Amino acid sequence: MYEIVIVGGGTAGLSAAIYGVRAGRKVLVLEQKNYGGQIINSPEVENYPGIPHVSGFEFATGLYKQATGLGAEFSLEKVIRVEDKKDKKIVVTDKQSYETLSVILATGAKNRPLGIKGEKELTGAGISYCATCDGAFFRDREVAVAGGGSTALEDAMFLAGYCKKVYVIHRREQFRGEAALVETLKTRDNVEFILNAVVTGLEGKKQLEGIRLQNVETGQEWEKKVDGLFVAIGQMPDNEVFSDLVEIDEKGYIRAAEDCRTGTPGVFTAGDCRTKTVRQLTTAAADGAVAGLAACEYISSSKISAAEE
Ligand code: NAP
Repeated sequence: MYEIVIVGGGTAGLSAAIYGVRAGRKVLVLEQKNYGGQIINSPEVENYPGIPHVSGFEFATGLYKQATGLGAEFSLEKVIRVEDKKDKKIVVTDKQSYETLSVILATGAKNRPLGIKGEKELTGAGISYCATCDGAFFRDREVAVAGGGSTALEDAMFLAGYCKKVYVIHRREQFRGEAALVETLKTRDNVEFILNAVVTGLEGKKQLEGIRLQNVETGQEWEKKVDGLFVAIGQMPDNEVFSDLVEIDEKGYIRAAEDCRTGTPGVFTAGDCRTKTVRQLTTAAADGAVAGLAACEYISSSKISAAEE
């Protein structure tokens, strides 16, 4: 029997694991893809306090080694559901079931697709959701990045180092991402902003050959020849399987306040998967600490109540 099972091995989940094992708890982290979560794809992280520059991969690897080195167990398994048996929870995965006293849901978020015709078919054939993974395939080519958040801006910065030309396509005049990144991009000769525009269509059957754009103010449409399209229009949560266990808001996020407690005793949530306004690496790590300690406190008080009965 575990004391804490954490669903999700990203920054929030691994931070929670560190706090759990350091408090002497038996902790298991279950992750469906790879450790590190979203940050593993960030070319460069420059806003984590105390670490001026680090790649997402380096950061995630350090976190993973820290958590497992301290004694947290880690397993690559997809969680299918969590059953609430009051004094214990059953975590069912695609491989087996685990009994645990508490659960921390730290499922993060997945990439939001553009939702246009041909997107699925051309993914991996010119369309990518990860500049650091696929950017090198587009050396000396022309690419577009869709989005106006920090991910799109960081992707554009990274791609500008490889590609002949990088078009940043954003649906508004103002960027949501960090102003400092926008200013740096403006100094790059091979970066061009296309503002107030969205990608409405894709050219090419087997391989992306170009994109169709539309100006959102005038309605004007035009085509642009590009070899690659990097989609960075944000994330969306993936919490459907927990809808019987915890309350989910209208956008799909797990409802919990800053104390990371859900309405279900013994079930906590941390990171981008919960209702919150700021989704950053720092807030994911902070949530991990809060949820990890809240789970430890829950376990201690449950054990005291059980002993008194
Ligand atoms: P984001 O901040 O949610 O930005 C998404 C961008 O895509 C926005 O500019 C949005 O436009 C645009 N967009 C959304 N749906 C669209 C659609 N259907 N068509 C066209 N454009 C669309 O997402 P993100 O950049 O992936 O960042 C996610 C979170 O991670 C944020 O909190 C971000 O600050 C954080 N992050 C942190 C770091 C770091 O700490 N180093 C790095 C990357 C990301 P509007 O602006 O018009 O809504």
